[in-house]
Amino acid sequence: MKLKNCPFCCGEASLLRARGITDFWYVECTACRTRQLASNDEKEATTKWNTRTTDSASIRKMIKEGKTCEALATLQESYGKKGAEILELIMRNNYA
Ligand SMILES: [Zn+2]
Repeated sequence: MKLKNCPFCCGEASLLRARGITDFWYVECTACRTRQLASNDEKEATTKWNTRTTDSASIRKMIKEGKTCEALATLQESYGKKGAEILELIMRNNYA
């Protein structure tokens, strides 16, 4: 399955495997380093990345409407702690 480009910077995404007690998979943008939460297998990670609800359009819309906290909560749901960084990136780059 082909990975979609990053929703925030259109950068190329890559599927990565992290080795540990149990291996896990995640997708990361090679440009802005946006990274999703870990998945148990390759397929799940790819599907999650390609079908996530946190697309840039909905986040930009929230920011535009002044719903910054809502945007942050949505990003954190998909990206964990990294959500705050992603929000900052979007706002800094004036994507909104
Ligand atoms: Zn990116």
